[in-house]
Amino acid sequence: MRERASKLHVVSLSGGKDSTATALMAIELHGREACRFVFADTGNEHEATYAYALDYLPQALDITVDVVKADFTEEFATKRANLARISAGEPESAVYGKRKFMYAWTPETAALALELLVPIGNPFLDLCMLKGGFPSRKRQFCTQYLKRNPITEYQMDLVDRGYLVESWQGVRANESDARRWLPHYEILSADMAIYRPILRWEVADVFEAHRVAGILPNPLYKQGMNRVGCMPCINCSKSELAQIARRFPQHIERIAAWERLVSRVCRPRSPVSFFHKGTQGHSGQASTIEHIVQWAKTSRGGRQFSLLSDLEEPSACSSAYGLCE
Ligand code: SF4
Repeated sequence: MRERASKLHVVSLSGGKDSTATALMAIELHGREACRFVFADTGNEHEATYAYALDYLPQALDITVDVVKADFTEEFATKRANLARISAGEPESAVYGKRKFMYAWTPETAALALELLVPIGNPFLDLCMLKGGFPSRKRQFCTQYLKRNPITEYQMDLVDRGYLVESWQGVRANESDARRWLPHYEILSADMAIYRPILRWEVADVFEAHRVAGILPNPLYKQGMNRVGCMPCINCSKSELAQIARRFPQHIERIAAWERLVSRVCRPRSPVSFFHKGTQGHSGQASTIEHIVQWAKTSRGGRQFSLLSDLEEPSACSSAYGLCE
């Protein structure tokens, strides 16, 4: 007879307020021994988020946070092999079934991309080099490859070791339409289920849970960020982007360097930009992050520069959730 496996409550920590509140609830209900905490490192996080999720929370909650990171070594090997064939002079088209495809590459451009297309070890950047562009709202492959897949692998490993896994997700229904109809509980298989304990919570409940437990929220919430995720997230708002540019210009410079590198390894004639057309509300064509940042500093539909934002001290407290009062 099969022995009854023990259940583990696996909390996906992002360093944001919702996943922290979820972790607090898991510890309160089940105790540390029955919980696991996992952080998916996208390689595009703010240093404050790493410090919060990997130093502050483990100390304050007396927990261990496991870190998972996507690795694209195999995918790079496949793409490099394809480029090597084209750079060596393989015919400029290939036939699959009845269809004939023309390569966008020439032997020269393929050879140049081959020189640059090596894994850097940063999951976000490596993924974008492989995909030949940055994710967008319509093609949001970052979530799947950088968060969902590595965390699922982590959970499957626990299942293989004989545990029943209950995946705790800190999502709230009023965050988006996509989340509005999610169920509280989903059974995926005999060994795995999803639990969304704060689905009907409001933002105020989340911060109240921090206060009651004596846990500080991620400091980025007092620095103009509405959400804590990538720095920046491809879906960040215009005002968040203006705050990021003013407070953390080094992250804008990093993304600008990523844009240049990804443009050089992607298909010829397709320069790529981190932000896609219209995502932040700008109406122009897709443009470099520096252009979008300049636009983010404007008001009145881009017709006027906001002097106030430049006069504010970068260290001044600014919170969409009233945390600065
Ligand atoms: S936080 Fe934004 S950019 Fe980062 S993985 Fe999620 S959707 Fe993509």
